[in-house]
Amino acid sequence: MIVMKFGGTSVESAAAIERVAGIVQARVSRRPLVVVSAMGKTTNALLEIARTAVEGDRDAALFRLRQVRDFHLQHSEMERTIEAHFQQLAELVRGLAALGELTPRSLDAVASFGERLSSLIVTRHFQRLGIPAKHMDARTVIVTDGRHTQAAPLFGPTNERLKSCIAPHLEKNVMVMGGFIGSTENGVTTTLGRGGSDFTAAIAGAGLDAEEIQIWTDVDGMLTCDPTICSGGHRVRRLSFREAAELAYFGAKVLHPATVAPAMEQDIPVRILNSRRPEVDGTLIVSHPVPAKNVIKAIATKRNITVLNVQSLRMFMAYGFLERMFDVFARHETPVDMISTSEVSVSLTIDSATHLEKVVADLNQFAEVAVTREAAIVCLVGEGIQGQGGIVARVFSALGGIEVLMLSQGASALNLGFVVAERDLEQAVGRLHQEFFRELDREVFDA
Ligand code: ADP
Ligand code: ASP
Ligand code: MG
Repeated sequence: MIVMKFGGTSVESAAAIERVAGIVQARVSRRPLVVVSAMGKTTNALLEIARTAVEGDRDAALFRLRQVRDFHLQHSEMERTIEAHFQQLAELVRGLAALGELTPRSLDAVASFGERLSSLIVTRHFQRLGIPAKHMDARTVIVTDGRHTQAAPLFGPTNERLKSCIAPHLEKNVMVMGGFIGSTENGVTTTLGRGGSDFTAAIAGAGLDAEEIQIWTDVDGMLTCDPTICSGGHRVRRLSFREAAELAYFGAKVLHPATVAPAMEQDIPVRILNSRRPEVDGTLIVSHPVPAKNVIKAIATKRNITVLNVQSLRMFMAYGFLERMFDVFARHETPVDMISTSEVSVSLTIDSATHLEKVVADLNQFAEVAVTREAAIVCLVGEGIQGQGGIVARVFSALGGIEVLMLSQGASALNLGFVVAERDLEQAVGRLHQEFFRELDREVFDA
């Protein structure tokens, strides 16, 4: 069997879903499980509606909700089903407005409707077009812990349910389920975090021992740079799991960072494909290294980063300082992305500034802290970096006068990461792309 995951843009309209149906139909013999995201930008809209409601603007929230309902009605004939879902949603939204409090649990409840609806709508379109599709509510299959908005799968029960609820049908049916959502063992709805449908596809693929996990999206595959930052990127034909994981972690949104691990553990190839251009080969992600004449496979970027410079004279020659420092980040549930240290200072970056004030206050108990906002991480990734001299020199020479706020190499042998001011990001990536992809190894890259 194979898993085929289609993202929001791939199912954003009736026409898009029909294109998807054609793609699936051509692969029915491979016994696909189809995983779909919410239609278009539905998840953003639902989360916005929940926030508007708790902020007290009930009417605005309900008005926006009707727009989202109309959008779904426009692209499906399942009037009654859609109406019933939106009635439930409207009740939830009224409840939120009355309470004026938004818990992670209610955010998940609201957000889940996107995938619950899209999966039903896609199933119906498939059936209408002659595909023997059967719907499965992902919440009965994907079992998670209770960390709402960021839930982690419980692989034991999830794999059991995949085997009992999905596997037996694959012989006769194309199974369709929503990505992103799951439920706790007590049946409370959860979500796996934004962009989590890719993760659902990997969890299902690993649990069902798939031949391949396909991530169908709106680009030709992993490109050598983020197309929203730098045009002229090239498709990478093949990547190793380790390279893909690193790129995803450092901002290549085309793949959710959690996607790689389950596939890698079971050695299931992952393929990124374009639902608008299914004839393109995409990017194949495999377990072994992919040798290439180019040292770098792709450049990933992460915007909206905060840099903290932590200095302490008392730290000089003292042990236990780093432990104390990381304890502060752990206490405030703030993950640290990148770090570099010297004898008396530590520079690090955080992605989420939600608890920044509390973090700084606690660090100030034993150190001085300087904060730089509006920074961006640039990360060059490639197994070729390993053991290659001269890369840092090439990077600095390509960057010319652009200031590097922080540099980190060596933590992982396959990435070189550094931080620049966000206003310099596009220029920095453009120059690096020019430097590292001027000539292309045609075996690995598509010009
Ligand atoms: P989906 O809705 O299908 O999950 P996403 O929007 O989550 O799609 O991911 C696809 C997007 O990822 C692309 O449209 C592109 O803007 C972005 N992206 C960022 N970095 C890269 C990269 N290196 N290669 C390809 N796409 C990238
Ligand atoms: N619909 C969810 C989101 O927008 C999950 C996904 O699309 O992967 O975050
Ligand atoms: Mg995505």
